[in-house]
Amino acid sequence: MKASPQEQQVLLDLQHVDTRLDQLAHRVANLPEIARCAELNARLEEFQSDSVQAQTELSDLGEQVAKAELEVAGVRARAQKDQSLLDSGAISSGKQLEDLQHEITSLAKRQTSLEDVELELMEQAEGVQVRVDDLSDSVARTRAELADVEQSRDAVMSEISDEVRTNELRRIKLLEDVPEDLVTLYQRLRNNLGGVGAAPLVGKHCEGCNMELAPTDLTSIAAAAPDDVVRCEECSRILIRRS
Ligand SMILES: [Zn+2]
Repeated sequence: MKASPQEQQVLLDLQHVDTRLDQLAHRVANLPEIARCAELNARLEEFQSDSVQAQTELSDLGEQVAKAELEVAGVRARAQKDQSLLDSGAISSGKQLEDLQHEITSLAKRQTSLEDVELELMEQAEGVQVRVDDLSDSVARTRAELADVEQSRDAVMSEISDEVRTNELRRIKLLEDVPEDLVTLYQRLRNNLGGVGAAPLVGKHCEGCNMELAPTDLTSIAAAAPDDVVRCEECSRILIRRS
């Protein structure tokens, strides 16, 4: 393959640009802000779901408290009615009086036990209310933290995007100055050799694989015409000689 020394130098510039683009893509893929956002989003979702659950629990308890209150009121009203009847002196039969007093006593017991249940439910509701408040705080705190992290993520991403755009434009310009067959070979090598398809020959070393070339290889490289495209015998990358 043939390419002028200038074209070969441009290929080296292209390699620099491609390496930088690879580094930027790697940086985006491993951006801590992105991982942190995902983590915070997951946590937020958990808090929100717990919060919905606690609110449902609280509203259920509220309904139960209201129901218990109604029951207490019903029992109290019945006891008052019985008491009024008793106080009115309208009942003269000893058996009826005894029954009425018995009922008043058992209604009082029933009222006490219903009130105990109501109190118990109210205490439970208080506990759940604390949890609802805590979760609501956690949701707000996590949302705020997420907004902060998203903001710094966006700032970093925009910085990286600018650099990617600059390098992509440079890449397009550079491609105009390298023969197509050389670019094709370079791309193939780049794909197979960890992103590096062309490397400079520095002294006796190929900077692609960092190996020292054998004297016979160095001799044949030295004998090659300047527009010959030479390759590293160790790693097969395109070797760019100093022009
Ligand atoms: Zn090499």
